[in-house]
Order: sequence, then structure tokens, then C-alpha cells
Amino acid sequence: MVDFTGGCLCGVIRYKVSGDIIRTANCHCDDCRKATGSAFATNVFVAADDITVTHGTLKSYNHIADSGNAMTKEFCGDCGSQIFGFGAARPGVKNVKAGSIDDASFVKPEVNLFLAHAIPFTKIDREIDCFDGMPK
Ligand SMILES: [Zn+2]
Ligand SMILES: [Zn+2]
Repeated sequence: MVDFTGGCLCGVIRYKVSGDIIRTANCHCDDCRKATGSAFATNVFVAADDITVTHGTLKSYNHIADSGNAMTKEFCGDCGSQIFGFGAARPGVKNVKAGSIDDASFVKPEVNLFLAHAIPFTKIDREIDCFDGMPK
């Protein structure tokens, strides 16, 4: 059980989460890299019901992942910060972008995904489970 707060760069979007962390993954896939503008995304998965947006209204963008699954990214329409993501493959679950969390010191990635797509300069934590793609 964790309680944390977060938000976007400009402060319009604020949220709080109260619940259990389902899983935390570093994702090196092309979609996560493009969406975040960073080398990889650290995605903290929680139950969608455990998230409360306390300020602002998220914009959303829908796309189809390589897997063929419909995915949605939620972000601040003013400053562009990525906040949440979710996919049709995992109903009721959303991922919180770790970089949007105010104090992310509790975040412990458990797995690296899509390492086949990692940018060569990325220093990979090999102490955790590593997959070239998405494990079945
Ligand atoms: Zn913003
Ligand atoms: Zn990804």
C-alpha cells in the first residue's frame, strides 16, 4: 500500500494515488520513448480506481501498439507532460509515469522490457529481469 502524489510540469494536472503497486517496469519500446521523449519510460502500474485526478483535465491520445492492442496515453494539454497510460490488454489498470511522481524514491523497477529497442547509450540494470520484448 502506497500513497503518493504527482503532476505535470506546469502544475495544471495534479493527482494522487492510494493503493498497491501492481508492477513497475522500465519500458524501452519505441512508443514509450517517443511519448516521453526520453531513453525509456519507468511505468508504475496501479489499479485505475486507485488514481484520483485532483486538479486539471487530462488530454488523451489513442494509438495501436506493435502488439495490435489499443493503447491510450494521458497527458497535460498545456505543457505536454505524460502522466498515465493504459491499454486494452489490461483493463482496469493504468501506468503512472514515474517522472510525474513528486517523490519517486519508493519506485523500484522490477523488469526491463523491449531491450531489443533500447538506445545503445542506455545503462541497463541487469540485476532485474530483462526481456528483449514483452514476456508472454
Ligand atoms: Zn501541465
Ligand atoms: Zn513501452
